[in-house]
Amino acid sequence: ICPEVQEEIDEFMASFRKLDLHYRIVSKTGEGTFSSVYKAIDLRYDKYINEWDLDERTAEYYSPRSKRQRFNHTREKKVKYVAIKKIYVTSSPQRIHNELELLKDLSGSKNVVSLITAFRHLDQVIAIMPYFRHVDFRDYFRKLSIPEIQLYMRSLFTALKFVHAKEILHRDIKPTNFLYDCAKGRGVLVDFGLAEREEHDGVCPCTRVRAGAPKPQTNVAGGYPKNDQRPSKRANRAGTRGFRAPEVLFKCNRQTTKIDIWSAGVILLTFLSKRFPFFNSPDDIDAIIEMATVFGRAKMRACAALHGATFETGIPTISEKGHSLSRIVEWATSRNKNDPLTSEEKRALAFLEETLELDHRKRLSAAEALQHPFLTVINA
Ligand code: ADP
Ligand code: MG
Repeated sequence: ICPEVQEEIDEFMASFRKLDLHYRIVSKTGEGTFSSVYKAIDLRYDKYINEWDLDERTAEYYSPRSKRQRFNHTREKKVKYVAIKKIYVTSSPQRIHNELELLKDLSGSKNVVSLITAFRHLDQVIAIMPYFRHVDFRDYFRKLSIPEIQLYMRSLFTALKFVHAKEILHRDIKPTNFLYDCAKGRGVLVDFGLAEREEHDGVCPCTRVRAGAPKPQTNVAGGYPKNDQRPSKRANRAGTRGFRAPEVLFKCNRQTTKIDIWSAGVILLTFLSKRFPFFNSPDDIDAIIEMATVFGRAKMRACAALHGATFETGIPTISEKGHSLSRIVEWATSRNKNDPLTSEEKRALAFLEETLELDHRKRLSAAEALQHPFLTVINA
């Protein structure tokens, strides 16, 4: 551990009353927008195994190993690691409460992180979760074979099916929130900081607004948001750039669990194109333009209309029909006639077309995705 991080850890442990009785931090494992996460040894568990270890040593007769060896052996195997998520005190109490409550409701899936417990001292709240060994996405996304990508996606969609069945939207599906262990082929979904419960009171208000709204005034100029005089529309747009679904960008007021499917599709596109991040616009208007560059004007107009919006652009590089995702992947990976897409890749692309579907109503649900041949037939 570098001295700065050690100092940060010492300060944190000293500031949080009695935390050192329960946990010993061994390293810092992550830092997100809203928290710092530390890897720690659960000392209560550690104490238990030391007692157990003593019993073991009385049975020395059965093993030629020395006491010392045996002691080290059992310690190594039995230490239980936890992740301590220190949620920044600048987060609103409501936000923190929401995250902990959803985590509590989400126990019971091996692909979704569970909450062991949580503590508060003064204004600091910490969540304790099992620690998951994982590899940094940037270190493996270019290297995975198609069967390995299938395993990754099956893990991710299994997590989503579980979360969505509880009518919860994660809202921030992206590689840093899905901890994947390449060796085991298992992933765990974390970070419910932006998650929310799905609302369902029938009609999508986007279309309701459209039906009752006055005709757009022709004398009011549309344009870039800064000088657009039309009344603005508001919607939850929490998430990460590059992973936002079209309905989030078009400010739909009734967003569904399908927004997570879109983001999972972006991850698959990242694997297949070997480009990360694939979409990267800092603001929503540019993100819509990026999307239009791939999908074309016609589909974007239809998608906008679904959410009571209009899509027009004068950018000449955006074509009417757009490009197939196969073509995009071919370009991104510099394919030519001698090096065409494999049949495995084509199967992956067929699945991708159904997850990166602009119309959220036609987009696969997590349960449907798990029935798709791409996720049921894996020749690993
Ligand atoms: P934030 O809300 O700040 O993004 P996250 O919950 O996403 O916080 O955690 C930030 C990072 O910490 C993750 O990207 C991951 O690297 C690490 N992390 C989080 N939870 C765990 C865990 N249970 N086991 C191992 N590492 C974790
Ligand atoms: Mg995160």
